[in-house]
Amino acid sequence: MDTLRNCIDGEFVEPLGGRYLDGIEPATGQVYCRIPASDGRDVDHAVGAARAAFPAWSRTPAAERARLMLELAGRLDCELADYARAESVDSGKPIRLAREIEIPRAAANLRHFATAILHGSSESHAQDRIALNVTLRRPRGVAGLISPWNLPLYLLTWKIAPALATGNTVVAKPSELTPWTASMLARAASAILPRGVLNLVHGTGAEAGAALVAHPEVPTISFTGGTTTGAAIARVAAPMFKRLALELGGKNATIITAEADLDVAVPGALRAAFQNQGQICLCGSRILVDSTVFEEFLERFVAAARQLKVGDPLDEATDQGALVSRTHLDKVRGYVELARTEGGQILAGGRAPVALPERCRDGYFYEPTIVTGLGTASRVDCEEVFGPLVTISPFNSIDEAVERANATPYGLSASVWTRDLDAALTLAEGLDAGTVWINCWLVRDLRVPFGGMKQSGIGREGGADALRFFTEPKNVCIKYP
Ligand code: NDP
Repeated sequence: MDTLRNCIDGEFVEPLGGRYLDGIEPATGQVYCRIPASDGRDVDHAVGAARAAFPAWSRTPAAERARLMLELAGRLDCELADYARAESVDSGKPIRLAREIEIPRAAANLRHFATAILHGSSESHAQDRIALNVTLRRPRGVAGLISPWNLPLYLLTWKIAPALATGNTVVAKPSELTPWTASMLARAASAILPRGVLNLVHGTGAEAGAALVAHPEVPTISFTGGTTTGAAIARVAAPMFKRLALELGGKNATIITAEADLDVAVPGALRAAFQNQGQICLCGSRILVDSTVFEEFLERFVAAARQLKVGDPLDEATDQGALVSRTHLDKVRGYVELARTEGGQILAGGRAPVALPERCRDGYFYEPTIVTGLGTASRVDCEEVFGPLVTISPFNSIDEAVERANATPYGLSASVWTRDLDAALTLAEGLDAGTVWINCWLVRDLRVPFGGMKQSGIGREGGADALRFFTEPKNVCIKYP
């Protein structure tokens, strides 16, 4: 059985406390690796290494930082198959999804920010003939990066890439549930980047994550994860005046208007509901459908969901793999029971799949589940489930769709399916969401601001926003004679 190590100062080291956690393959429920259960001492060691590496890395010319990061991206391309397999085994996601979308996106993250720093420009403000103001942007030091289990390498590199590109050094803590590809990346980086520039500490959020957030020498924290965890992190980071980005949960609406092209909207809404077993913060887990097309949409959507193949994540034909853990499976089951209690009708799913390969009999599988008939006060329709459970409800006017879509504490994203431009613009304007997709879902341009409103987070990642987040602006005011 493989045993992972922390990567600190370019070396792969044991956790100082000598403790390990079991790494479980979600598709089988079996332990397949050991993960360091790091504590504050390991975090302190990693922060020390990152601090020592900071002066040289921050002064390394942008072109050289870019060259090294592009080399790292190239390594991901070369080892795509190995990374995809590891991601699938570690998280339960279909291997096709990992290979075709997520690992290529991780490489794209590195390339995007590596090249962005070659084309940046600084601001200047000429103040009449009094003074010329120039804004210098400097890296902030050690960045603490904490990422979740659902898109492990995709989201970790989304943070690592802008942090490194702008000249910060990094201590990253991936989710203890899915540490494998982060470890592979650290292995590749240790052969390319200078020592101490990228450090990786494994362990639980409560121990290693909390120690990183509280470390006085880590002025920047970028976190993606649940809203409750985000609030706990903010309570620690705010009084220390850390710069904090929080990308948190979502309960995103998919809105189908009367003018939607259902040939496009049904597969689009299906993908939005169930990609990665519904475990994407952007998943459209509440579908709102104009009442005039409700029955037709429902019939076609349920039929399409029943066609999704739930199976071994390593099988190329699988559409739906395993949920990430037993605990998460129990949470999803609990919400299905709640939906029944709240008076919902289960039109598909609502149970574990009956036919699974022998290897997967103890895995954490659940059928794509569709619920209708829930009222506006329903908890299932309002709380984040983060699994293969979608609710479908009718609406009678665009105003009602907006009101209902906005009736959650979250504000991450929404998708609108329509051929009516007026409806599209009214919805785009009215929805409380950091991203509104029209006739598409999860189309991502890495230059655009990404983040959530309300309890979906604070701050924006992506493009120039990320470059700004990881740098400190300094105004230099030069007086005219
Ligand atoms: P968690 O909030 O449980 O964990 C996220 C990360 O934070 C993990 O690495 C976790 O470690 C760590 N962590 C947990 N507690 C602390 C703490 N007190 N201090 C520091 N770090 C801590 O989220 P999940 O991993 O369960 O991910 C799912 C959630 O992430 C969903 O709510 C989803 O919506 C959200 N998400 C948001 C996205 C966005 O862009 N807005 C994108 C993707 C997911 P460990 O797991 O090892 O305990």
